[in-house]
Amino acid sequence: MSTAFDMLALPEASALLSGLARTAMPVALYDRDDRLCYANEAFDAAFLHGLALPVAFADVLRHGFHHGFGIRIDCGDIEAFLADILPRRRQQAHRQVTTDLLDGRWIQFTETLLPDGWLLTIASDITALKHNEQTIRHAHASAMQAALTDALTGVPNRRHILELAEQALADHAASGEALTAVLLDLDHFKHINDAHGHQAGDAVLQHFCRLAQQYLRPGDCWGRFGGEEFLLLLPGADAQAAVAVVERLRAMQSDADVPAYTFSAGVAQLQPGEPLQHLLHRADAALYAAKAAGRCCTAIAAEDF
Ligand code: GH3
Ligand code: MG
Ligand code: MG
Repeated sequence: MSTAFDMLALPEASALLSGLARTAMPVALYDRDDRLCYANEAFDAAFLHGLALPVAFADVLRHGFHHGFGIRIDCGDIEAFLADILPRRRQQAHRQVTTDLLDGRWIQFTETLLPDGWLLTIASDITALKHNEQTIRHAHASAMQAALTDALTGVPNRRHILELAEQALADHAASGEALTAVLLDLDHFKHINDAHGHQAGDAVLQHFCRLAQQYLRPGDCWGRFGGEEFLLLLPGADAQAAVAVVERLRAMQSDADVPAYTFSAGVAQLQPGEPLQHLLHRADAALYAAKAAGRCCTAIAAEDF
């Protein structure tokens, strides 16, 4: 049978072997018994450091492990690592395996199992690709975070607090626990801006959110609903418990670093089967009532509306 190799003229065959020896990509050849019989210069530099051939594949890994180079073995136990990977070796004609090295590089091994049982391994350095992937993953995560967060105060923005509210309603439907929504609006905020400047107004908004975050429990949701209006969801709280939470928040307010401010609040406890929009509508009506009652106070929404 004539193969491509048979037809390769001697000068080309010689050039090919010479290229394999010198290429920057590590190349290795293992016999049927998985002994490393050929390694080019790049493979030696990365995985052998002069280890004499032939040598069993497992011993190549052991050598690197005991001398602090080659493949990173996270579990710290070379025999456990070998027991894990050896059963998967030589099972397919073509396989790609990605790993990181102790020197920080990422390598992709392309293995070719030849018909006579020999195994050719070519390694590519994919460190730059991996770093790009990580950069893109981090950029994506921070873009996602930014899309959900109010830039001034760092709390969930309107879109996100509404999503959290929908989630709280779904959880409520599953658990049957009480759930209460509160809308809080800073009083005469326009006057604070006019009297102290927009920056001082911003500092008040930040202060109010800091206070809320310090004070609220982990399951509570707080977000910026509009300019100087905030939505609070209190799972497990009925209307009376929510009023107590709001009044304690009110009592914590004073801080010499920002202009004095007050807020009004409208409290609405979720009724069975009530949609979010309706709940928010009732909370808003209660907030309006608190403003009409003179501000700096809390009103509870009527149950039927
Ligand atoms: P009320 O007690 O009836 O709520 O009166 P108010 O002045 O708080 O309400 P109004 O709706 O008349 O004004 C809200 C003000 O909030 C006007 C707007 O410029 C200000 N505001 C909204 N967003 C921001 C912000 O991000 N920073 C600052 N500094 N001001 C803001
Ligand atoms: Mg206001
Ligand atoms: Mg307002």
